[in-house]
Amino acid sequence: MKSPCTSGASMPASPLPPHPEPEPDRPIGYGAFGVVWSVTDPRDGKRVALKKMPNVFQNLVSCKRVFRELKMLCFFKHDNVLSALDILQPPQIDCFEEIYVITELMQTDLHKVIVSPQPLSADHIKVFLYQILRGLKYLHSAGILHRDIKPGNLLVNSNCVLKICDFGLARVEEPDESQHMTQEVVTQYYRAPEILMGSRHYQNAIDIWSVGCIFAELLGRRILFQAQSPIQQLDLITDLLGTPPLTAMRSACEGARAHILRGPHKPPSLSVLYMLSGEATHEAVHLLCRMLLFDPSKRISAKDALAHPYLEEGRLRYHTCMCHCCYSVSSGRVYTADFEPTATDRFDDSYEKRA
Ligand SMILES: [Zn+2]
Repeated sequence: MKSPCTSGASMPASPLPPHPEPEPDRPIGYGAFGVVWSVTDPRDGKRVALKKMPNVFQNLVSCKRVFRELKMLCFFKHDNVLSALDILQPPQIDCFEEIYVITELMQTDLHKVIVSPQPLSADHIKVFLYQILRGLKYLHSAGILHRDIKPGNLLVNSNCVLKICDFGLARVEEPDESQHMTQEVVTQYYRAPEILMGSRHYQNAIDIWSVGCIFAELLGRRILFQAQSPIQQLDLITDLLGTPPLTAMRSACEGARAHILRGPHKPPSLSVLYMLSGEATHEAVHLLCRMLLFDPSKRISAKDALAHPYLEEGRLRYHTCMCHCCYSVSSGRVYTADFEPTATDRFDDSYEKRA
């Protein structure tokens, strides 16, 4: 596998052969809320991804969820976040039951890359992690929690460019701590301990926990906390991090806190992270431990994680030949003034609060 920054770098999982014949349309993914097809846009002949969102008007909850996702897809302007290129108009308003969204076509996703036999170099891991955090910093600056960060929601193209996708569970952060937020979020393996412990209010640190799990999975090529149930999920986490102090369980529900306190006192065993792979260097494990903190208020932010020395090479690699924000001239590379831009505005969800 080539490094992500050599010319013609490609992910061997999906080497793209030249296509002299027009490629047939085909399904490429099945999400919880729709099917994604790889199609040719007849208007310009370009290959794009077409997502069908079926039965969107079935009930009010589904209407609101789809509307929120579409609004977000149209709001995003960032190279590491998937956005809508177009939304197709229904041919007739009377049979308007499904919505079709066109997005950029990406060849694969990080789950497929991780389970494939292709080697993942330290360069790959760094440039992937850099882009995940770069996209997440942007989302969090817009006030958006993704709430389902997992390898399958991180699309990757043949040049190792990565984009965060699937905003079906995303929402705007809730500053009012008395407001309850749903716990039906995040695929279990990537679910933060505060959600597993029944916290009714959480912040964007839940996304950072998921990124930490993915970082470890990139290093070790296997799911870090692969449990059969939410309780076992919590047990696997405390096996690694040790029994949390009471202060780290402030927002937990009584039953979950009792479960932890009833069990044996566990010491942390973080040194096992060095055994994930030969790429698990001091710097890598240091950053990983800052993401996998039990207490969400102590967990590192996307912005601060991007300032960690482990990500310097990923940043350089990304902006040397993969980004759209810098460019080359005959005398060298002209770099952007802001390597990890924030959103210019916060995502406005005030329409949801109107009756
Ligand atoms: Zn750049």
